[in-house]
Parts: sequence; C-alpha cells; structure tokens
Amino acid sequence: MIRSDAATRPSASRPPDWQTVLARSVTEAAQLCRLLGLSGQLAEAAGEAARRFKLVVPRPFLARITPGDPADPLLRQILPTAEELLPAAGFSEDPLGEAAASPLPGLLTKYQGRSLIVATRLCGVHCRFCFRRHQTEQPGEGESRHLEDAIARAAADPRLAEVILSGGDPLMLDDPRLARIAGQIAAIPQVRRLRVHTRLPVLIPQRVTPSLVAALRSTRLTVVLVLHVNHAAEIDEPAAAAIARLADAGIPLLSQSVLLRGVNDNVDALVQLFERLVDNRVMPYYLHQLDRVAGAAHFEVPEAVGAQLIQAARTRLPGYAVPRYVRDMPGSPNKRPLI
Ligand SMILES: *Cc1c(COP(=O)(O)O)cnc(C)c1O
Ligand code: SF4
Repeated sequence: MIRSDAATRPSASRPPDWQTVLARSVTEAAQLCRLLGLSGQLAEAAGEAARRFKLVVPRPFLARITPGDPADPLLRQILPTAEELLPAAGFSEDPLGEAAASPLPGLLTKYQGRSLIVATRLCGVHCRFCFRRHQTEQPGEGESRHLEDAIARAAADPRLAEVILSGGDPLMLDDPRLARIAGQIAAIPQVRRLRVHTRLPVLIPQRVTPSLVAALRSTRLTVVLVLHVNHAAEIDEPAAAAIARLADAGIPLLSQSVLLRGVNDNVDALVQLFERLVDNRVMPYYLHQLDRVAGAAHFEVPEAVGAQLIQAARTRLPGYAVPRYVRDMPGSPNKRPLI
C-alpha cells in the first residue's frame, strides 16, 4: 500500500482511518521488541524465519500484548522464531491439497453448495501458523487478479447456495471494491448467502466503517461474518465496539479459532475465549485442529488433548458457547469433527 506522507501524518483532529493504521504496521522484529520491552535476542532469533514469511503486525493488536512477556499468547501468534525453520515430518507447503481442489486460481470448490473465493492474498497480520503462509503475495499485488474469472466459474455451478470470501483477508479490499464484488455475487441467481472470513474487525477495529456496514446490509444476500480470534485478550474495548457495530447492524457473527500450543491450549484460555465471544454476540463456530503446514509444527496440539479440552469446556459453558472441534482433510466432503 503506497500512501503519501500527508496521508500517514498523524492528525490531531481526526483519528486515523484503517488504511493509515494498516500502513503503520510494525514489520521489523527489532522494532517490535523495542516497543514491547523485549530482549533484542528475540529479534535476532526472528532473523531467517522473518525472511521466509515476513513479520506484519498492526498497532492495535500490538497494544493488546503484555510488554516484557516473551510468552504472551498474542505475541506468540505473530513473532517469527527459529522453531519455524525446523523440518517436521508430515508438515508440508500445501497441507490441505488445495491445489487439487482449485479449478481456477483463487477458487476452491471442495464442498457441495459452497465455493470459496480467495478475494486477495493480502492479510492485516501474518499469523505464524497460517496454512497459506507459503502462498502470500507481495504488498502491491493487491487483490487476486483472477477474481472475475473465479466468480464466473463459481456461477456455473447450479447447486451453489453460498459464496465464501476468504483470503488472505477479504476486508483488505476497500469498501467500494467489496461492494462491487458483493454485487457480482448477488447477480448469480442461485446464490443466497455471502460468507466473509476475516480477522480485520478484531485486528484493526477502525476497519468496521459505516460504508462497510452499509455494503454488507444493502445486498439481497444473507451475509454471515466469520471472525478469526484465538485468545480472549484479542477482544479489547475497541475490538468489542467494532464487533458491536456489526452485531447492531443485524449481521450474524460466527468465530473460528485455531488450537495453538502456547496460545490457547488450556481449558481456562478456551473458556475465556468462548465466553468473551458470546458476550460480544459472536457464536463460536469452529475450533480448528492446526493444519500441518511447514514451519508451524511447534504450534501443534495432539488431537487427543484437544478433545479433552473441548470436553472440559462443555462442563463449564452453555452448549451454544462450545464450537465444533474439526480438522480439514484433503479429499473429504466436509470438515471432520474430532469429538
Ligand atoms: C472450510 C471451508 C469451507 C466452508 O466449510 P463450512 O463447513 O461450511 O464452514 C468451504 N470451502 C473450503 C475450501 C473450506 O476450507
Ligand atoms: S489472518 Fe488468516 S489468512 Fe491471514 S495470516 Fe492469519 S491465518 Fe493466515
């Protein structure tokens, strides 16, 4: 994203818009460690891992990290570490066999009635465990070049009821572009629902603009938003306010989380996360078993442990607050429930 100095200069009168916040994201491990009062050794250890998959973290997310704590569960999600370089059996660059489920670049037709469109490969944050970490585009490439073709190809499926915009993060696209894409999808007669998978409303609360809410409200399609959140501490007051703007607009909100070692792999962390979500009118939908992507093996929690954690969460929460614990499998007609 190229912005002029004038656009990035802080203004006393007006809070920065989301694109300005995004442009000010921290991308250097040394700077991250300075801002968080962490040892420079952590920045050095980030070295090669950060070259393979860049560090990107926006400041509102940074503000939720406890300074001076190298084990902070939010820090662990974004700080490159030498562990990412260790080879691990069974961990690969395309763990879900997505290449095989993709009839065209940017389109995944794995499941009946739903097509997933990669609207952009850009993201507001680089999660170290991301299963698409080997497929990111360089900033400036912007939205998928193949979007129009992907929509046209999806439209050829007479059973298509739902289009899922994913990425990357589709909310990296600006509001006029999103409104245009929603219009193109709404023009497919058999499609009734538009689902958007995103981390941005929590990551950068300023992203939930009035024009975004208007675009999501004005389509004939039923819009469902699925928010990616892994820890209760990610939902601070500004994030809660952004979620409330979406909920007040009547948009159904679901969450998806990834079970991550050292982040949320204990029952207290999960219970706090799911409660924080429902308290903010977000229904916990999926807890994902980690996809076995090269570089993320140190985040893996054994399935048996995950099943015990979900079982324990069930004894402490209402049924609707406990998500489905699932694993994505290459070649399966649905995500596989693990308990
Ligand atoms: C997860 C996923 C979906 C949606 O699956 P649901 O079970 O409906 O949430 C669709 N397409 C792909 C490729 C997916 O990975
Ligand atoms: S927000 Fe999602 S797609 Fe983007 S880096 Fe994180 S896990 Fe990957």
